[in-house]
Amino acid sequence: MSTLIAALQANLTRVRERIAAAARAGGRDPSAIALVAVSKTFGAAHVLAAAKLGVRAFGENYVQEALLKIAQMRQAAPELSCQWHLIGPLQSNKTRAAAQTFDWVQTVDRLKIAERLSAQRPPHLPPLNVLIQVNISGEASKSGVTPAEVASLAHAVAALPRLQLRGLMAIPAPAAEAGARRAPFARLRALFEDLRAQGLPLDTLSMGMSEDLEEAIAEGATMVRVGTAIFGARAADTSPPLAADR
Ligand SMILES: *Cc1c(COP(=O)(O)O)cnc(C)c1O
Repeated sequence: MSTLIAALQANLTRVRERIAAAARAGGRDPSAIALVAVSKTFGAAHVLAAAKLGVRAFGENYVQEALLKIAQMRQAAPELSCQWHLIGPLQSNKTRAAAQTFDWVQTVDRLKIAERLSAQRPPHLPPLNVLIQVNISGEASKSGVTPAEVASLAHAVAALPRLQLRGLMAIPAPAAEAGARRAPFARLRALFEDLRAQGLPLDTLSMGMSEDLEEAIAEGATMVRVGTAIFGARAADTSPPLAADR
C-alpha cells in the first residue's frame, strides 16, 4: 500500500469514527450523515487515493482547479464514479462550466446565479443539486444570503426547472468554545426546518468542517465538509486562487 493511501486511511478512519460517535451521541444513524472530502489544493493523486478508500464525494472551491482534477479522475479511474460539490463562491462567468461539471453547487446566494445554472445545465444530465449558502454569522466579508432573505430565494430557486434545491449550507465564523460554535448551527437548522414547514422538500443541511463537525452533527447536519482532517494541512491556502477563477 502506498504511503499516501496509508496516511489517508488513518485519517479517514478517524474522521468516520468522529462522525459516528457524534451521530450516536445525538441518537442519530451515522449513515444519515454524508461525508464530502474537501480536496481543494490537493491533486488528483490524493483524490484517487481517497476514492480507492471508498470516498465518493469531493468538495472543490475553484471551478478551474476542479475541471482539471475531475478530468484526470475520469481518465485514471472511470469505474469510480465520484460526486463533485462546488463549495466556493461562484462568479457568473463560471456558471456554465459549473453546470456542466458538478453534481452539486452548495454556494447559491443570488437568484441570477441560480437562473444561469438552471439554463446552462446540459439536458443529458439530471437536475443540478443546489444548496443555498446562508451568511449565518452575519460577517461582512462572507458570501451567503442573510437569514431574512433565505425564504424568498429558496422558493424562487425551487421553481427553476433544471435545479433541485436540496437544502442549506453555511460556514459560521470561527469560535474557540464549543457552546459558541453550536449557536450558528442551531440557527441554520431552524431556517431549514422553517422552509420544510413551508412545503419545500429539503433533505440536506451542509454544515461542519474538520474543527467543528461534532457540534454541527449535534445540531442536525446531514452533510459535513472535511478537508484538513482527511488530507492534512493545505500548504497552498495562503496563495491566491488560480488567476482563471478571479
Ligand atoms: C475549505 C473548506 C472546507 C474544509 O475545511 P477544513 O477545515 O479543512 O475541514 C469546508 N467547507 C468549505 C466551504 C471550505 O471552503
